[in-house]
Amino acid sequence: MDTVNGGISFWYAQDGTPAPREPLPGDTSADVCIVGGGYTGLWTAYYLKKAAPFLDITVLEARFCGYGASGRNGGWLYNGVAGRGHHARRHGHEAAVRLQRAMNGTVDEVIRTAAAEGIDADIHRGGVLEVARTPAQLARLKDFHSVEIAFGETDRVLLGARETAERVRVHGAVASSWTPHGARVHPVKLLKGLAAAVEALGVTVHESTPVTEIRPRHAVTPYGTVRAPYVLRCTEGFTASLRGHRRSWLPMNSSMIATEPLPAEVWEEIGWTGRETLGDMAHAYMYAQRTADDRIALGGRGVPYRYGSRVDADGRTAPATVEELREVLVRFFPRLAGARVDHAWSGVLGVPRDWCATVALDRSTGLGWAGGYVGSGVATANLAARTLRDLIRQDSGQAGPTELTALPWVNHRVRTWEPEPLRWLGVRALYAAYRRADRLEAASHTQSTPRLATLADRVSGRG
Ligand SMILES: Cc1cc2nc3c(=O)[nH]c(=O)nc-3n(C[C@H](O)[C@H](O)[C@H](O)COP(=O)(O)OP(=O)(O)OC[C@H]3O[C@@H](n4cnc5c(N)ncnc54)[C@H](O)[C@@H]3O)c2cc1C
Repeated sequence: MDTVNGGISFWYAQDGTPAPREPLPGDTSADVCIVGGGYTGLWTAYYLKKAAPFLDITVLEARFCGYGASGRNGGWLYNGVAGRGHHARRHGHEAAVRLQRAMNGTVDEVIRTAAAEGIDADIHRGGVLEVARTPAQLARLKDFHSVEIAFGETDRVLLGARETAERVRVHGAVASSWTPHGARVHPVKLLKGLAAAVEALGVTVHESTPVTEIRPRHAVTPYGTVRAPYVLRCTEGFTASLRGHRRSWLPMNSSMIATEPLPAEVWEEIGWTGRETLGDMAHAYMYAQRTADDRIALGGRGVPYRYGSRVDADGRTAPATVEELREVLVRFFPRLAGARVDHAWSGVLGVPRDWCATVALDRSTGLGWAGGYVGSGVATANLAARTLRDLIRQDSGQAGPTELTALPWVNHRVRTWEPEPLRWLGVRALYAAYRRADRLEAASHTQSTPRLATLADRVSGRG
């Protein structure tokens, strides 16, 4: 069988694309209008409607719910949040620790809510295992591990080569860091269950309805305009297509492959009985999960960015990227050299200029937004949604400030990206530098991170 390329994602090939919902029939009004039907938009609708059932909430989705990253991701439900270091520098260490604690709790919250709503999303709470395979990666792993502990993750453990192999036998792994704050999920099962829960609560969801412009109290579409005191932008990697947002969040590509279901004798050799989500410490890092039907779904960067912030063609992936990901798979598990790759796909994440996720509500205009999660949005979108709920309830006089509205990422402002061609040249150079740094580290057995990668971090705003 040939590799299926695109078709949104393997998760949809496995679970089926949903029956379409009706587009917006014409001009209308609502109390809250949410633009974007991914995890951010849907969780926001869910928590708002639960807290205030009287609210009239409309979700407008350009294609179908889960068309974006929420229907394509690696299924790492974990406690990482983009920008914690930045918030620590700006608001103090304690503020960043509060953010981290909220993220740890968010992993529990998603698992608990999925169970309460009867959503079967193949959730397995095996934690997150991040491995080092070169001396430089080992040095970074140790730094990373102690930084995470300093941010309050005292239940994280550092594992040596033997203990790592007892969990997952990754070829050449010299050490790993494991945290319990993570679970494997089937992204689309979670998304579909959430969309159904939202509709059951009485939220109106219109699909095939692209919003062309968001302005105070208006979401404009080709079929009509929704007027609402609150309009929330939850469009992540697609934000650049909205009028006035061309240079807000950069649509960064991430690509994945899924193998055929692997037989029992392969799993005996690899281990991975704890079904941890698995990652590494390379600059152009990989992420993977063992699926419920015993495949490996593995992702990495691929072609990072398309000129002019273009997004994708239903997940179609360059053959060279598919081959690159297959090589990573075989590097990690040489036994899989002959394994079939059943599916390859890609999606876009949203990357702010300072690599910091944000949740915000402008009280003077009623415009809100959340995103810029970079590569860690599966759990973060849930925290952002509960925060948007609290911000709206506070603004409309239904409730006071909460622990969530006081977190340091709330109302964080970020400058825009450079215009083209600088944006394209910059991102290409950044990833070329990361790849070269990975090759240098592998070839030289150096323990220090090459200056090239550190410089790339600094120039890109990531460091
Ligand atoms: C390949 C890949 C792997 C990833 N792996 C992980 C992972 O393992 N763990 C993790 O934590 N994060 C991961 N991420 C990131 C994570 O998936 C996202 O951060 C998260 O899903 C973002 O959710 P969202 O709802 O904000 O955005 P999206 O899911 O992208 O949803 C945005 C929605 O808005 C709609 N939309 C866009 N523009 C408009 C418009 N103008 N009008 C109406 N609707 C519009 C889109 O069609 C889309 O459905 C990954 C991302 C990708 C692409």
